[in-house]
Amino acid sequence: MAGLTLEHVGKKYPNGYEGVKDFNLEIADKEFIIFVGPSGCGKSTTLRMIAGLEDITSGTLKIDGRVVNDVEPKDRDIAMVFQNYALYPHMTVYENMAFPLRLRKAPQDQIDKIVHDAARILDLEKLLDRKPSALSGGQRQRVAMGRAIARQPKVFLMDEPLSNLDAKLRVQMRAEISKLHQRLGATIIYVTHDQTEAMTLGTRIVVMKDGVMQQVDTPAKLYSEPCNLFVAGFIGSPQMNFIDATVGEAAGHLTLTFGKNTITVPDSKAAALKPYVGKVVIAGIRPEDVVEEHEYAENKKLSEPIEAVVTVYELLGSEAMIYGDVDGGAISAHISATNPVRTGNRIKVAFDVDKLHVFDKDTELAIVH
Ligand code: ADP
Repeated sequence: MAGLTLEHVGKKYPNGYEGVKDFNLEIADKEFIIFVGPSGCGKSTTLRMIAGLEDITSGTLKIDGRVVNDVEPKDRDIAMVFQNYALYPHMTVYENMAFPLRLRKAPQDQIDKIVHDAARILDLEKLLDRKPSALSGGQRQRVAMGRAIARQPKVFLMDEPLSNLDAKLRVQMRAEISKLHQRLGATIIYVTHDQTEAMTLGTRIVVMKDGVMQQVDTPAKLYSEPCNLFVAGFIGSPQMNFIDATVGEAAGHLTLTFGKNTITVPDSKAAALKPYVGKVVIAGIRPEDVVEEHEYAENKKLSEPIEAVVTVYELLGSEAMIYGDVDGGAISAHISATNPVRTGNRIKVAFDVDKLHVFDKDTELAIVH
C-alpha cells in the first residue's frame, strides 16, 4: 500500500476550462480519503488524473514518493472501481475477477488463491460460476470491488461506486466498503457528491467547489468547524440555517440582531467578532442546535427565545423537522415528535449559542465557530 502527494496539481481542458486548480494534498498510507462536492466541481477530474486517465496539466503527482505524472495508468499500481461496474458480461464472476491477473500472466494456482481470497472477503464464494446478468446490482458492485482487490493495487480509486444502487443497498454497501477498508488496510480515494456517504466513510474529506479545494478535514471537524459558508451549507443534512444579522454591543456583551430578535453572543466567541460591530454578518446554526422552549428552561447556554411560525412540519419518526419563519429570517429545527405544534402554529425556540457559527458576508469565510 502507499501514500500519495499532490502538489499544485491543475487541469486545464483543451477548450481552456480549468477543471481543477492548484490542488495540494498529502494522503497517508491506509487513509480513506473522500472527494466530495456538487456536480462539476472537479472531483472526477482529480481522480482521473491520479489514475492516469487524464493528463495533469500543471503540478506533480507522487505515489510512494515517485513522480508518476508521465507513468502509464497500468504502471501506477492502482485499481479503479466505477459506478457502472464495467464487468465483462460473457465472463463468470471468477473470470471477471481473474482477468487482471491473467493479463499479468500470473500462474493459475496464484490466480485461484487470490480470487478465492477476494471472494471470501466480499462474500462472493457461492456466486463464482455465475455471469453478471444473473446477479443483483449489489452483487455486481461487489464483483467489481473483487476485481479491484484481486489486482492487489497500492491504491484503490472509487468514482461514485454506489450511485447506481437503490437507497437500502447503498447503505449496506457503505458498511461493506468500510469493513473492506479495515480488512485490506488499503489506501482508498473515493469520489461522491453525497455528503452523507462522505461523512460516514471517510477518515478525511476534501470538499471541492468550482475546481478549488475548500477544506480538508476529518468528518467531525468539517461538521463542527466549517471554514466557509459553502462547506457549512454543504456538509450536514438538513442544512445549516443561515440568517443575516447585525453585530451590536449591549451590557458588555456582543449581540446579533435580526428583525426584532436579538441574541447575546457567548463571550468565548466575542473577540473574533468584535471588529464586526455595526456590520451585517451571516449567523449559522444547525437544525439540531435550535431547541424547543421546554428544553431551554434549565440550560444556561441557550440564546434568548425566538418566536417562529411553522410553515412546514415533517414527522420523521421519533423526531420531527419544522421549517419556520422568524422575524428577520427563516429557520429549521429538529423537535420532538410529541410536540403538538403543526403548520401555522407558533413555537418558541432558542439557539444553543455554543454551536453558533458566524461568517463574513463579503468573503464568506468563517469568523468564529
Ligand atoms: P465532478 O466529478 O465533480 O462532477 P468533473 O471533474 O467531471 O466534475 O468536471 C469538472 C469540470 O470540468 C466540469 O465543469 C466539467 O464540465 C468540466 N469538464 C470535464 N471534462 C471536460 C472536457 N473534456 N473538456 C472541457 N471541460 C470538461
